[in-house]
Amino acid sequence: MTAESVIDAQGEQTVARAPGTVRASLSPSRAADFKTCPLLYRFRSIDRLPERPTVEQARGTLVHAVLERLFDLPAPARTPESAGDLVSPQWDRLVTEEPELATLFADGDAVGLDGFLRSAAGLLEGYFAVEDPRRLEPAEREALISAVVDDELLIRGYLDRLDVAPDGALRVVDYKTGGAPREAFEARALFQLKFYALVLWRTRGVVPRVLRLLYLKDAEVCDYAPDAEELVRFERTVVALWRAIEQATARQDFRPRPSRLCDWCSHQSRCPSFGGTPPPFPVAAAPDPLVDARSRPATPGADE
Ligand code: SF4
Repeated sequence: MTAESVIDAQGEQTVARAPGTVRASLSPSRAADFKTCPLLYRFRSIDRLPERPTVEQARGTLVHAVLERLFDLPAPARTPESAGDLVSPQWDRLVTEEPELATLFADGDAVGLDGFLRSAAGLLEGYFAVEDPRRLEPAEREALISAVVDDELLIRGYLDRLDVAPDGALRVVDYKTGGAPREAFEARALFQLKFYALVLWRTRGVVPRVLRLLYLKDAEVCDYAPDAEELVRFERTVVALWRAIEQATARQDFRPRPSRLCDWCSHQSRCPSFGGTPPPFPVAAAPDPLVDARSRPATPGADE
């Protein structure tokens, strides 16, 4: 695509219509925000309200970073010990890149930090209970993928891992590190994976054989096999969702939709469902959502 990228009033990246026709973009995280609660979408994507990192989110980021780096090692070296050795250096790297993470632990709180690092190592044990990375050679890790649907909507997101079998079969893998009740988030997690499946199908012409959720805390695997008809329906759902976002934006009407997920929402103080008042609807556009899409968890209390 050669068109120039710009940011629209929705805070989503758009691409000028000439020479192509793409005019908006949507990530699975933001789409899922709108599905979960339109007001949450507004707070995150339009108001761009900051959210302080939580220990749980930081742990998820750390474990994702370790698992990504683990596959940099030669296959025989991808052992639980090697993963454990990566925890502390990866945390140091993350804190250097995002100094706010250091505020999660009071100065000199070595005990708290040590417990945090050990809890991350515990999640990695969960990973090794369900997979042997010595037997895997991922095709892609932390990869940004995108496709145009409905001739004008760019859908894109970062997948944790893509495995390609010798026969060309695709397996999309997503690591889940959150401690929140799984049933509260599983539909959202599957929505995210179908989003990636749709992108891969549209760009490679292959429907992924497996969408895999790895729940590291419980050391469980959840596999889902999509089919083409389902992805056609899903594409319609995504496009309809985007139309609904456009309408809500035009009307400046994003309503709260309270649910169990409110327990993990950072914005209760501004939410009418909790006696709060949203800030005035912003008139200015926002920064690049591609950065945001990776730095913010998919939902309060859950990992991307
Ligand atoms: S507290 Fe609940 S209803 Fe309010 S914005 Fe957050 S998720 Fe939506």
